[in-house]
Order: sequence, then structure tokens, then C-alpha cells
Amino acid sequence: MATGNINVSVENIFPLIKKFLYSDHEIFLRELISNATDATLKLKHLTSIGEVSVEYGNPIIEVKVDKEGKKLHIIDQGIGMTSEEIQKYINEVAFSGAEEFLEKYKDSAKDSGIIGHFGLGFYSAFMVAEKVEIISKSYNEDAKAAHWICDGSPQFTLEEHDKTDRGTEIILHIAEDSTEFLEDARIRELLVKYNKFMPIPIKFGTKEETLPLPEDAEEGAEPEKITVDNIINNPNPAWTKQPADLEEDDYKKFYRELYPMQFEEPLFNIHLNVDYPFNLTGILYFPKLGNDMNMQKDRIQLYQNQVFVTDNVEGIVPEFLTMLKGVIDSPDIPLNVSRSYLQADGNVKKISSYITRKVADKLTSLFKNNREDFEAKWNDIKIVIEYGMLSEEKFFDKADKFALYPSVDGTYYTYEELHEKIKDAQTDKDDKTIILYASNKDQQHSYIEAAKEKGYEVLLLDSPIVSHLIQKLETSKENISFARVDADHIDNLIKKDEEQISKLSDEEKETLKTTLTEVVPADKYTVQLEAMDSNASPFMITQPEFMRRMKEMQQTGGGMFGMGNFPEMYNLVVNTNHELVGQILNTKTRKKQERLIKQSLDLARLSQNLLTGEELTQFIKRSYEMIK
Ligand code: ADP
Ligand code: MG
Repeated sequence: MATGNINVSVENIFPLIKKFLYSDHEIFLRELISNATDATLKLKHLTSIGEVSVEYGNPIIEVKVDKEGKKLHIIDQGIGMTSEEIQKYINEVAFSGAEEFLEKYKDSAKDSGIIGHFGLGFYSAFMVAEKVEIISKSYNEDAKAAHWICDGSPQFTLEEHDKTDRGTEIILHIAEDSTEFLEDARIRELLVKYNKFMPIPIKFGTKEETLPLPEDAEEGAEPEKITVDNIINNPNPAWTKQPADLEEDDYKKFYRELYPMQFEEPLFNIHLNVDYPFNLTGILYFPKLGNDMNMQKDRIQLYQNQVFVTDNVEGIVPEFLTMLKGVIDSPDIPLNVSRSYLQADGNVKKISSYITRKVADKLTSLFKNNREDFEAKWNDIKIVIEYGMLSEEKFFDKADKFALYPSVDGTYYTYEELHEKIKDAQTDKDDKTIILYASNKDQQHSYIEAAKEKGYEVLLLDSPIVSHLIQKLETSKENISFARVDADHIDNLIKKDEEQISKLSDEEKETLKTTLTEVVPADKYTVQLEAMDSNASPFMITQPEFMRRMKEMQQTGGGMFGMGNFPEMYNLVVNTNHELVGQILNTKTRKKQERLIKQSLDLARLSQNLLTGEELTQFIKRSYEMIK
């Protein structure tokens, strides 16, 4: 038997590592299974190039819990290690790797959330074990099996062992404070979290399987049950295959595998696959999003060589795409740095813009190849696209060709199509093309009708970030401007050259204005007299585009500071050419005049959904009085 001292300068790094990585103790299992996988893949490689004569077979990795013995076993059938190799790779490499790790990241280790992404490797076993054993037999037939025991201090023992089959068994003697790792349920949870798609089958216990009844089975015969290995992973997940080898159904099946608790089908997927200048594979899915911008719990998962790393892809995937789902697998993403550093990394930047480009290309082809289907899905995907147009200039340029603007009547236009359609009718006297939109078909019904009567097209834009998008379009396109249909009277929204002739003289207008301002509450409404078509509404409430938009923008982030505290202010547009308005002016009794104004104001408020509570009750009472 050999005993020895591991040559490390830090006397006992074990307690240090334990302390630093407290919240991430669970990663030890991922690390040990990664090593077992590496060892198996190394053997596969050697046999495939004919370097060794041993049979590769169908190796698996087994995880076993021995609750009574307080032990956890990780067993592989990989390349194995001779005692010299243990001396070298474990005593020297693994330990010095751990030491180097500590030196380098002592400070950033406190910056939790990133620490679990380091490959601390073999040494992480000591985060949960008070003693670790390695029993290993090299693939090299002549080599004797070796047995190494260490309690995390620099002392170890290394002796021969009678193990006869190839591979390595790691035995963890679980420490008092880590007994959670002796629970089947906890281990299963970790295996599913980190190892669900690793390339070598991982066995955890056994399960019963019912065999199908043979065709000639007698009636009432019991189907035969057999016990089989419980393999917890899918070693060949869809993203590791070539897109050409996958059907639409395979993508859907993989989505369910990835998110077993998600019952809604994805709308479509994007297969990522590059190997130069960086390595990246993955599948992204567009889920049904609607107008919901809240973070969902099923997020994009990041893997490195089929090992789960994190589901926080912030900094790697452009922010607007973090609403998507799926997986990304890249060994080229540096994880041992902080998030802000990550964003500055050249490789990561390239990855991020590659993903953006692939998403844009996929959307372009969906739009071109099946416009009808694209239109049908628009409402569920628009939030991602609009958000992308706002945040990434390159994406804007591409999306500008397929982003859709639906009309209130359900016609979907691209920007170019829309502009072509409206430019003649909706260009005002200053040569500006006005794009009219509504946010709610029912609430803004009368305004929409007024615009339609003029032959104008009205869009229905109802996503929560639409005010930002409009702002963006107004600055990137020339000579256009957006106006919500209820922002003013339609003739004021699109001003043409022709002046409406006023039926009232200046003097009459003056009198009317004075009368109106005496009755209409000045803190809420600004009275604005307009000589309009005599058929247009006599009273109309509008809210200036600018003010409303600033408020909306502030509600969804951005916009002008302080606008949120602005009082609700509206304009009361009074049509001086309407018969009723003439009547108000000429009514002699003050009481009757007041009643007409109040009633008209309330009707205007009603059409804007602004009449509620006591005022609504009063209005109804007054109306009954009037028709009595
Ligand atoms: P890394 O995996 O990054 O090389 P580790 O600390 O995880 O670092 O492992 C150190 C070395 O120990 C490995 O490179 C490998 O040579 C050896 N090793 C660890 N586990 C096994 C195993 N199950 N079978 C064979 N060799 C192993
Ligand atoms: Mg390792």
C-alpha cells in the first residue's frame, strides 16, 4: 500500500471550496458524470480509430445510492485509470486544477450564479463527501486495478484492487451536512436537471416494463412484466442531429421532452447549426405569446456538449429572443466570467448576432412561403418581432419587410404595402402621410367609422409596446406620422387644404366659447371650437396623440420622465357647424342651455368610455327626464 502527500500549497483547500460553493454543491454530480462520460467517449474514440483491441460494446454509466452505507456510487465502463494515471490525473491535475480555480476566482466566487458553471471537476466531490474512493481498471489489459482513498486533505492512500472489469467507480462517503444526496428523489432531480441529454446512457435503478401480449394469447392472460434498467437520459437529443434528418413531428416531440409540463404546442422552430467561426447547435421554438411579455418559467436552456449549464441565457441570446424557448449548445461560450464581461466577449457577440440572423431568416422564409399561415400566427409572435425591431437595428432592417400591420377589418399589410395603399388619400397638405390606428375596435368605434367614411384605412395596433414601435417607425421612415383615431377630429388628424366655412360669425363663436367654458369643467377639458362638416358629431372628446403616447411609453418603460404624473387632460372638440351647437347658442333660458351642454358633454364622454359612477347615474336620470 502506498500513502502519500498531494503536493498542494494551500494546506487544506477542501473547507475553502465547500464554503465558496455553498449554494452550488449539487454540481458535483454533473461533474462526476461528465468525467464518466468523457472516459467512455475516449474509449469509443480509441476503438473507432483501431488503436485498441477491446470491445466497445454498449457502455452505460450507473448511479447508485446506498442510503444505509451513506454512500453514492458513480460507475462507468470507460477508459479507466492505472495507478500511475490516478497519481497523475487526480493527485496532480485535478488537485492543482482545484487550487488554481480557487486562486483565480476567490473573489468572483461570491458573485453567485456563475460559479456553478465552472468545471471544478473531480474535486467538487469533496463539497458533499467526507471521503472519496476511486476504484479503477484501465482498458489496458496488463494494468492492475487501483484503489485510491482520500478525505480531502492532502493525504491519500493508493493500493491495488481486485476489480476485473474495465472502468471506474467513484464512491462518495456523503458528509453529515449533505445527506440530501442520499435521497433517491434528490438524485433523480439532479440527473434530470443536468444529465437529461448527455451522450452516454445513465442508469438509475430499474423499472418494470409490461410486455405486449402475444397474438395467440389466451383470453384473460396476464401480460408479462420484466425488469429493465431505468435510463434517465436521451443520449441523442434532436438538436444533435442534422435538420435534414428531422421531421416536423420530431421537433414537436423534442419540445415535449424539453418541457414535459408544457402542453401548448410551439408555433414553429429554428434549427441552429454552425461550426465556424464558433461551434453552436440548438433548436429555438416560438411559443404562443399573445400580448404577454412576462417572463415564463420555461426558458431557453444552455448546454455545453449536452451537459446542462443554466437556463439563464441573458447576455448570450439577444434580450428580445429570451422570450423564446428551446436549447442552445455551445462549448465556445466562456462561463467562468461575469455576465457583463460575457457581453463584451467577441465570440459571444458573434453568437448573439448569428442567432438574431437565423431567427430573422426563418421569419422571412415563413412570410415568403406561406403568407396566410404567417398572418394567422402574427398575433402570437408580434411581440417578439416588435421588441426585436426596437432593440436591434439589424433585425429592424430585416423585419421591416415582414412585420405586419393589420387593419381593423383584418387585412394584413407590410409597411410598404400599407404606404402604397394610403399615400394618396392620407397625405396631408404638408406632404406628410398620416397612418391612422386604433387600439380597441369597440372603444374607438365611432372614431374608426368617421375615418372610414373619409375612405381612410385604420390599423389595429394593440401590442403593449406599440407606442415605442410607432416612435421608432416615425424616426426611421420619411414624412410619415402615426395618429390614433381618437386623438382629434379626423379633419384635424389629416389636414387637407380645403377650409370648412363656419356657419357662426366670430362674435357668435366668442359667445359660445364663454358659455361652454362656464359649464364644462376646465380642469379636465379644453374647449376647442371647430368648423366641421355639419354631419360630424357636435361634441367630441379627444386626447392629444403626443401626451397619450408619452404616458403609454412610460408605462412600458422608457418615454419621458415624469409624464406618468400628468393629470388626465382631454380636448372637447365642438363642431360649430352642427345644428345642435347652433341651438345651444340660441337657447335663451340659462337652465335649458346648461342642460343641453351637460347632456352633449356626457354623450361625448360616453362614446369614449369616460362616463362612470355617479356621473353616469345622473346622466341616465337626466335622459329619462328629457324624454318624458
Ligand atoms: P477535467 O475533467 O476538466 O479534465 P477533472 O478534475 O474533472 O478535470 O478530472 C481530472 C482528470 O481525471 C480527467 O482529465 C481524467 O483524466 C481523470 N478522470 C476523472 N474521472 C475519470 C473517470 N471516471 N475515468 C477516467 N479518468 C477520469
Ligand atoms: Mg471533469
